[in-house]
Amino acid sequence: QLSDKFDAVFKKLRGQGRLTEAHVTEALREVRLVLLEADVNFKVVKDFVAAVQQRAVGSDVLKSLTPAQQVIKIVRDELGRLMGEGEDNALDLAASPPVAIMLCGLQGAGKTTSCGKLALRLRKDKRQPLLVPADVYRPAAIEQLKTLGRQLDIPVFDSAADADPVDICRQAQDYARNHGFDTLILDTAGRLHIDDTLMDELVRIRMALSPREILFVADAMTGQDVVNVVEQFDARLDLSGVILTKLDGDARGGAALSVRAVTGKPIKFVGLGEKMDALEVFHADRMAQRILGMGDVLSLIEKAEAAIDKDEAARMEKKMRQDGFTLETFRDQLQMVKKMGSMESLLKMIPGVGQAMKKAGGMQLPDKELKKIEAIIGSMTPLERQNHKLINGSRRLRIAKGSGTRIQDVNQLLKRFTEAQKMMKKMQQLGPKGLKGLMGR
Ligand code: GDP
Ligand code: MG
Repeated sequence: QLSDKFDAVFKKLRGQGRLTEAHVTEALREVRLVLLEADVNFKVVKDFVAAVQQRAVGSDVLKSLTPAQQVIKIVRDELGRLMGEGEDNALDLAASPPVAIMLCGLQGAGKTTSCGKLALRLRKDKRQPLLVPADVYRPAAIEQLKTLGRQLDIPVFDSAADADPVDICRQAQDYARNHGFDTLILDTAGRLHIDDTLMDELVRIRMALSPREILFVADAMTGQDVVNVVEQFDARLDLSGVILTKLDGDARGGAALSVRAVTGKPIKFVGLGEKMDALEVFHADRMAQRILGMGDVLSLIEKAEAAIDKDEAARMEKKMRQDGFTLETFRDQLQMVKKMGSMESLLKMIPGVGQAMKKAGGMQLPDKELKKIEAIIGSMTPLERQNHKLINGSRRLRIAKGSGTRIQDVNQLLKRFTEAQKMMKKMQQLGPKGLKGLMGR
């Protein structure tokens, strides 16, 4: 799966001190393969990778982010931008009624289903929709729309079975005008493949009714192929937007990215199931998240940015370089972690960690434990914090009393700390780069 691959790519970057050109290039080489494998159009991938490369190399690495997080953030931002983040996706129905919305696309994409979903949504918005069956080639298609209409209690225009689709649409328009319907939803015919007869018919409907919205219905499961199809529809019909269906399955998301990037037309809705209420407004940021599939990386990044004062981080780094890793720096770090929210919620946001925690049956270091550690260190004298070796038996007893803990708790903390210190020493032998990476984490 795409998300696992990204995870693997970024694991390599985790813990590195700086975002160098080499890091970015290596990560992006794999990002590129991953996207291609997810059925994203190759031209789209090329542009995307170039954009990320340009932004990543030479950009300031935030002290609060690891290089991995930094690259994730840029990749995520660019994915969002590519899918039209921040654009207005709302339907444009600002015209004198009845306004027509035309749905088109290949057979089985979900046109008829989406017509029903759209009608339900519009009625909730206090509009009066009329469903129009313009797919006359399969009797079952008209019947399908009628069934949906009955189910939703939304009228379906009653046409003669052998009428021309363009005539049906015109008649439906007159009918709507005379019966107080303000919105026409046109369910047009599809084919397994594009052919001229179908296209000509759709163009004639467009000329007859001038629909305010012409939405291409794309099946998210079809991947790469959809790009050619949507381009041809757009060339003849000048689409106003896209409905991406069947995202409730394990579609890889490549279609969304490609369709939006190739046509430049906004994705307005996504279909998330067969039921009539399974239609949602498209959110570029959520789609980027889906494609990345990396836990709630973004909120982790936001939290880190908000909580960690850059000067504070610099001060701590300096202190650590001077004094080494002491109980004092240890406490500073704990406080920083606390500022960022509970340890547990923080760890859960890191990709993979949430699942690992579930498997392990919870965290070893809950907030209660953190408070205890803080209390113990707080009961030490500054000298003891600088040099833990001073802390003999009687001092331990005093610290335990002062912090309202047991002497075993003090012993355990000192043991943990000594282990951490040993690890730190090893890291420090890696030089300033290794230290910085550690701080970043
Ligand atoms: P049309 O030929 O384009 O009109 O496609 P239909 O509306 O008849 O849909 C074809 C099939 O896809 C039907 O079985 C629908 O229930 C199903 N379908 C449509 N949209 C979705 C969706 O968003 N999710 C899922 N899981 N199925 C969908
Ligand atoms: Mg249909």
